[in-house]
Amino acid sequence: MYQDFQKHLQTTIAEIREAGLYKSERVIITPQSSAIQVEGGVDVINFCANNYLGLADNKELIQAAKDRMDVRGYGMASVRFICGTQDTHKQLEQAISDFFGTEDTILYAACFDANGGLFEPLLTEQDAIISDALNHASIIDGVRLCKAVRYRYKNGDMADLEEQLKAAQAQRFRIIATDGVFSMDGNVCPLDKIYELANKYNALVMVDESHSAGVVGKTGHGVTELYNLRGKIEILTGTLGKAFGGSVGGFTTGKKEIIDLLRQRSRPYLFSNSIPPMIAAAGLKTLEIITRDNTLQDKLHANTEYFVTKMKAAGFDIKPTQSAICAVMLYDARLSQEFAAALQKEGIYVTGFYYPVVPQGQARIRVQLSAAHTQEQLDRGIAAFIKVARTLNVIKQ
Ligand SMILES: *Cc1c(COP(=O)(O)O)cnc(C)c1O
Repeated sequence: MYQDFQKHLQTTIAEIREAGLYKSERVIITPQSSAIQVEGGVDVINFCANNYLGLADNKELIQAAKDRMDVRGYGMASVRFICGTQDTHKQLEQAISDFFGTEDTILYAACFDANGGLFEPLLTEQDAIISDALNHASIIDGVRLCKAVRYRYKNGDMADLEEQLKAAQAQRFRIIATDGVFSMDGNVCPLDKIYELANKYNALVMVDESHSAGVVGKTGHGVTELYNLRGKIEILTGTLGKAFGGSVGGFTTGKKEIIDLLRQRSRPYLFSNSIPPMIAAAGLKTLEIITRDNTLQDKLHANTEYFVTKMKAAGFDIKPTQSAICAVMLYDARLSQEFAAALQKEGIYVTGFYYPVVPQGQARIRVQLSAAHTQEQLDRGIAAFIKVARTLNVIKQ
């Protein structure tokens, strides 16, 4: 039985390799951090984790997780509505609502699930979803699972969004869905204008805060802080896997009735396990750490500003960014791979992205800054970029 299928798979995998698109995984043998060791004992400075606030190896989070595991056990062995809800889960949901200024919150195993299970319970074929063209794969999948009529607008293009909103007047309810920060460029969605258009054309708004929560806004409360729209957006989704500790877990937070209906009907919530109590406890500790003072957020913003300014001054072509993502444009796919490999030899850990992850001819190295980076690590990163760029003729002397 397997033989024919095996051949087919082998051919497909060979095609992926020939196209130069085969992804192999580099193995890290230390905790996730700004300085890590990869297999073979090589020390590198990490510029490609979503560890924006440097909490992935934070001692307080680790202790909070251990302590809660001691008193609430290892796992829930249940979905939430059967017997998978502990006090810790309810406390975390409340803390997330308080953080974003929303009415209620529902936890998922991942933000991929939050987005995957968001649209289908809320909308029918009578309704419309108007989606930014660069939205995350999980939003795209969530939209696919829903029967609503689909509209798409060019990334951040408000004239195009307005056109789509006009067309979507044919449907009963409309929802605009957007990433808060677009992960390949680092740009923030123009939420002020989206909100205005939503009011004008009677639409709801959903924002995925995965790359913006903890990062964007003076105190890291995300795009609703940046645009002064706290409590105004109907639906926010997010992850505990990036700035919020870097482990796993996702959430949808927003209007009370929306969250209530998701608890009744959202399939990844109803048919998938609760997050472990220790993860919920560490999530609570994360929110405590980042709301008791602004140290980590200030450090992240200063680090980003420093890195971007120095790189631009060195002559690099940097995409405009309002997040902790700095896209160093190289345009050529092969060059982006050579560049990343040369950087790793210099002890700098980054990833080069090229088509189809980014548009054809838009290859780049995406640098992600962290509050955990020291000034010395940033300087070493910048110096390595300059050295490699000169060798590969990307910038002039
Ligand atoms: C990372 C990411 C997700 C997925 O989050 P997980 O919790 O890891 O599943 C969803 N949406 C966006 C925009 C992301 O960047």
